Amino acid sequence: MKKEIICTVCPIGCRITVEGDAGEVRSIEGYTCKRGIQYATDEFLHPVRILTTTVKTNLKDTPLLAVRSRTPVPKEKLMDCMEVIRTVTVEAPVERYQVIVPDICGTGVDIVASGKL
Ligand code: SF4
Repeated sequence: MKKEIICTVCPIGCRITVEGDAGEVRSIEGYTCKRGIQYATDEFLHPVRILTTTVKTNLKDTPLLAVRSRTPVPKEKLMDCMEVIRTVTVEAPVERYQVIVPDICGTGVDIVASGKL
């Protein structure tokens, strides 16, 4: 399997080509520095993303509240997480960083409020 990855660690945005299998990297080309090797390896073997979205609230004048995952979530779980978040309605008051959904989809990651309500 061959995958082209754009490194997002710095603004240069090197195009890195990674070859390997699901559990092993065999070759990496196109990086400019060691940080790119680490980024491309992680992205190839187990890509993760910070999830940012909104949840419904019980307030008519503020119907949505911004939320995010406290730490990155496995990329393949993002859609499952969104399905859960879509069903949530929070009730004021909510403090910044308050846990809205603990351990979402068994990832060990909490969804927290980005702002106050
Ligand atoms: S490989 Fe290094 S130089 Fe290239 S984008 Fe990544 S961090 Fe920047």
